[in-house]
Amino acid sequence: MKYTVDEKGFFGHYGGAYVPEILYKVVHDLQEAYKPIIESKDFQDEYESLLKDYVGRPSPLYYAKRMSEKYGCQLYLKREDLNHTGAHKINNCIGQVLLAKRMGKTRIIAETGAGQHGVATATVCALMNIECEIFMGKTDVERQHTNVERMRMLGAKVHPVTTGNMTLSDACSEAIRDWCCHPRDTYYMVGSTMGPHPYPDIVAKMQSVISKEIKWQLKEKIGRDYPDYLIACVGGGSNAAGTIYHYIDDDRVKIVLAEAGGHGIDTDFTAATIHCGTEGIIHGARSLVMQTDDGQIKEAFTISAGLDYPGIGPMHADLHEKGRETVLAVNDDEAIYAGYELTRMEGIVPAIESAHAVAALKKLTFKPEDVVVLTVSGRGDKDVETYLKNKNMAKEYGNF
Ligand SMILES: *Cc1c(COP(=O)(O)O)cnc(C)c1O
Repeated sequence: MKYTVDEKGFFGHYGGAYVPEILYKVVHDLQEAYKPIIESKDFQDEYESLLKDYVGRPSPLYYAKRMSEKYGCQLYLKREDLNHTGAHKINNCIGQVLLAKRMGKTRIIAETGAGQHGVATATVCALMNIECEIFMGKTDVERQHTNVERMRMLGAKVHPVTTGNMTLSDACSEAIRDWCCHPRDTYYMVGSTMGPHPYPDIVAKMQSVISKEIKWQLKEKIGRDYPDYLIACVGGGSNAAGTIYHYIDDDRVKIVLAEAGGHGIDTDFTAATIHCGTEGIIHGARSLVMQTDDGQIKEAFTISAGLDYPGIGPMHADLHEKGRETVLAVNDDEAIYAGYELTRMEGIVPAIESAHAVAALKKLTFKPEDVVVLTVSGRGDKDVETYLKNKNMAKEYGNF
């Protein structure tokens, strides 16, 4: 692969490791350790076997016939929603828990917003019998109560964070603070292609199984191993990174990502970091950040808890700047509509995050022979209430 992170952890001028002095050694140790471990046969064997028998991979690549007709293309859905725990996040957690074990760590911490990464982390910690503590904004603890209960049932300790806006961004800061106090025994499990180097690279590699499978599945179905378009939603950027990983250097493949526009990119209620962010440091990396003129991180806003983050992974900031990715902002109402549309046309209730990717179809013009692969990052069971409550929001696009 030509496109990759450089020695110092940068994608172009984004990335790096901006961490407090006290974490320098532990981050450096991880930088030294991760590649040899991940590339070892022992790791690969255990990782692949768990992905197969525990997560349920490969996830299907499904030809969506009715949606294909509607949008005038050949649409295939990559079904990450069918994974154990209901989303792509488990791919990353399985990989990182195996890495943590091999580094001799005995305790795992993680931040979570909607609770999806928290649940995936608590799941793999139960599986591996390893201590697990999750940091979650108090607002999110209240909003996402079912996930909190799932984490507790899995044996994790959940810490409600009461600083700042009491949401994801504050939970990240609190997790980093805990890590500073326990650098030796604790592994910090980052949930997206975010954080100091080497996390964006680790997470992208763990999710790259998505595009690895797309390659052989397409070959099997259509006789060639690449699509004309790849579409995914982007919060921190991990399901998108996994979807594009093995195609970044392949210029035949157009990459379209959907970020959360919230009420709209011209309002204060948005999470569209590529559209509205400026360069800054967020959670240990240089990237695009939604911030005030004096550098305070702004609160992100979107109907989708999983995309509710004021930053974006450095790899996507760079690929967008280089023109390799097209990033569209999808507003709440468009996502709600797209969620209903996929549900009624294919019988698949997508996570509200994934519905943002589905909504991108409406904004693109295809040729009938174009092969489009769209990643459904997660399932919508957790969002049924949101869909029902906000049904009227999408009225102007049609009725359900
Ligand atoms: C967390 C989550 C996302 C956003 O995270 P990325 O790192 O950008 O992939 C998207 N979809 C689902 C279902 C999620 O749970």
